[in-house]
Amino acid sequence: MALDPTRIKMDEEEMEAYIKLGEYHSHVLNSFARNIKGNVKVAELVEGSERSIKEGGYELAFPTNLSINEVAAHYTAYPGDETSIPESGVVKLDMGAHLNGMIVDAARSIALNEKYEELVHVAKDALDSAIKRMLPGNKIREVSEAIYNTIVSAGYKPIQNLTGHKIEIYVLHAGTEIPNVPVRGGYRLKEGDIFAIEPFVTFPEAKGYVVPVGDPLIFSFRKKIRTRDEIERKVIRLIEKKYNRLPFCERWLFKELGHRLNNTLLRLIERRALIGYPPLVEASRKMVAQYEDTVLVTSDGPIRLTGGTP
Ligand code: MN
Ligand code: MN
Repeated sequence: MALDPTRIKMDEEEMEAYIKLGEYHSHVLNSFARNIKGNVKVAELVEGSERSIKEGGYELAFPTNLSINEVAAHYTAYPGDETSIPESGVVKLDMGAHLNGMIVDAARSIALNEKYEELVHVAKDALDSAIKRMLPGNKIREVSEAIYNTIVSAGYKPIQNLTGHKIEIYVLHAGTEIPNVPVRGGYRLKEGDIFAIEPFVTFPEAKGYVVPVGDPLIFSFRKKIRTRDEIERKVIRLIEKKYNRLPFCERWLFKELGHRLNNTLLRLIERRALIGYPPLVEASRKMVAQYEDTVLVTSDGPIRLTGGTP
């Protein structure tokens, strides 16, 4: 069963499969989020969560992101990563799964100590109020306003350069965005639209935007190139076949290619065959919390596909 991305409405069977995927995904996400505490290895959590998605009969839509403290997004374990969860701070667990290209994308934040609990709550509140506005005919701006107002009225600040996004078949970021601050212009929501909504929240004294820091840990295929290098050729073939244009990470290729991989991925970015996504860090190094769910717009109201109760 493959969906036609140009079609607006899913049939009953596809809808049911999508809902089941969302339920399974949020069950895995919530149970791994509950197990996040100081000294647990990041590699264990991301690999365990990815394994659970596959055990459910689903594919990964992107590597599990586990981003700590001022790192807002796009951290995943690299081969041999010994990083552990700190004793104090905020952890974001962001996971993606798909079935025949039907993608769900959701994230939870965990406060490791009391002083960050409110920050996490505000991110969740912002998501809840945004989802209520996900009705056919509403403008994206109204959704952004709900996010912005919830965050600011609680005394916090949204991350202005991270956004929610439309999801289409095999396309995680399908162009139309849901900013966490209201902007002009206007896509109007329609029945059958699927969006990931993801408020990111920081403290009021923070700069309130993220910057890329360090080498990318997450990658996606950009275009085919000619190369004589055997490993480069192998990598490109493998990626095209297995991940299509969905994001992947070095850990996944390392299993097949081992140390021969070396810095092939960075080289392929330079040669414009791949896109690299470095970790995104709050510009003033302040703590960031995120909540995300994938939502289906229907005339009966929004369906929160990944909203399984924690
Ligand atoms: Mn996500
Ligand atoms: Mn997302």
